[in-house]
Amino acid sequence: MKKSLLSILFAFILTTGCKLKEEPQKKPTLVIGIVVDQMRYDYLTRFANKYGNGGFKRILRDGFSLENAHNNYTPTTTAVGHASIYTGSTPSSHGIIGNSWYDKILKESVYCVDDNTYYTIGNKGKSGQKSPHRLVTTTLTDQLHLAQNMNGKTIGISIKDRSAILPAGHTGNAAYWFDGGSEGKWISSSFYMNKLPNWVQEFNASGKVDDYLNVPWKTLHNISSYTESIADDNNFEQLFKGEKKPTFPHDIPNLRMKNGNYDIIKAIPSGNSLTTDFVKAAIIGEQLGQSEYTDFLAVSFSSTDYIGHHFGVASKEVEDAYLRLDKDLADLFIFLDTNVGEKNYTLFLTADHAAVHVPSYLQSLKIPAEYLNPKDFKLFVNTITKKYFNSDKLVENISNFQIFLNKEKIESLQLNLNVVAQKIADEVVNYKSIYKAVTARTLQTTTFNEGILNSLQNGYNQKISGDIFLVINPSTLNSNYTKKGTGHSTGYNYDTHIPVIFYGNGIKSGTSKKRFNITDIAPTISNLLKIEPSNGTTGKIIEGVIK
Ligand code: ZN
Ligand code: ZN
Repeated sequence: MKKSLLSILFAFILTTGCKLKEEPQKKPTLVIGIVVDQMRYDYLTRFANKYGNGGFKRILRDGFSLENAHNNYTPTTTAVGHASIYTGSTPSSHGIIGNSWYDKILKESVYCVDDNTYYTIGNKGKSGQKSPHRLVTTTLTDQLHLAQNMNGKTIGISIKDRSAILPAGHTGNAAYWFDGGSEGKWISSSFYMNKLPNWVQEFNASGKVDDYLNVPWKTLHNISSYTESIADDNNFEQLFKGEKKPTFPHDIPNLRMKNGNYDIIKAIPSGNSLTTDFVKAAIIGEQLGQSEYTDFLAVSFSSTDYIGHHFGVASKEVEDAYLRLDKDLADLFIFLDTNVGEKNYTLFLTADHAAVHVPSYLQSLKIPAEYLNPKDFKLFVNTITKKYFNSDKLVENISNFQIFLNKEKIESLQLNLNVVAQKIADEVVNYKSIYKAVTARTLQTTTFNEGILNSLQNGYNQKISGDIFLVINPSTLNSNYTKKGTGHSTGYNYDTHIPVIFYGNGIKSGTSKKRFNITDIAPTISNLLKIEPSNGTTGKIIEGVIK
């Protein structure tokens, strides 16, 4: 009796499932958030002539593109970007103030998603001891779950743990990330589950990763056609260990063992292709978009970030990475059309931050650019405190361009914290690469409505941030990066100008040149889904995007 009822129910779900594919739905059955790690807005325009019709061009043509969207906080790094996209707020609310930061109470650096109260699901290592516990607000994905009485599935997928975990929120059904090294497996945390579902185990056993690593990285098209990039052999790119020149073809099968074995896939376009394969397996394995509820798949393509850091904005490698990602996206969109139904999904594509041109490349063009040596800088700050307060022990930590003061020491010397902080802020601008400095006290007592100090203020969290905030000169990197390759973290346009494209069910076709913030994405999607925005939301609904 039980069985026959079940089979009737199953047949009913199957028939309605078929109808879902044919008839337009009021609400999407699947929302896909796509973050392309380190994608600058100008990668849409710079490579426009070379993109095919089915990838970036498809969603630009039929969707809604914000041409002047920015991160509205600092630091512009990966964890902060993903948290801000999915909470519609900034570090001042959501509490993710960096990838890692100095914990004032523990007196040590903490990583955004580390949590040793959980264990790894998928292997015996520690790479799965993670959770979103440091994120203090709800996400768009949490709100969708709450609105549907915890129905509908929410899954985060990325090569980077933080880029899968933070978007999936506190109520995510799963987050999966890639454990490289000698493993080469997609894993998760006991925060989500007790064992990997069959489809993940099958994917891990499929040998796909090795297939990708068995071929050299060659350019997709003839390299002579890559006219949007500088010479392949130049002085501004990092080498893979074992390489003599930073040029194509990169001999991945032979470089693999010297470059962290499976880790090397993170830093080549195949990392994005592998992510695409895994996303497709998730859509089938979890039957996403097939129920009466809205599912949410949060995808982040990480390899573009590794490649950007390694080779720089102007490199042929970055050009090739985007032409290949365009193909992966076209492939994914067709897969969604077929398996979820063209009218049933809503999608947005954005970036967690952009990146600066390699400073040494800018210097070669006579454009001002600098390198800041963190050790020299710390010594400089200590000379300030020695000169004015007769102690070089007042600074506890400098990280993420914030100075954390040693409050016990300041108290024991009967100094006034605000006076010490203000003096350092006043004096530290005499250091070559420092453009501005402002104290936490100023950020608590003054409202900055625009510009770089507004970004700093949005990045300032009274509970966990430092005591003095620093703004470096434009196009300056920590010299940790050597003078090859690039980075990101500032509030300047080169780090903040990102693509934001909405597409699919409920989305109008069009463009806007108005300035929008990365924090406007989540409230806009919440409005489309007719659900409550996240509890920390500071962003606004972008009118004109939604039908
Ligand atoms: Zn990133
Ligand atoms: Zn990065």
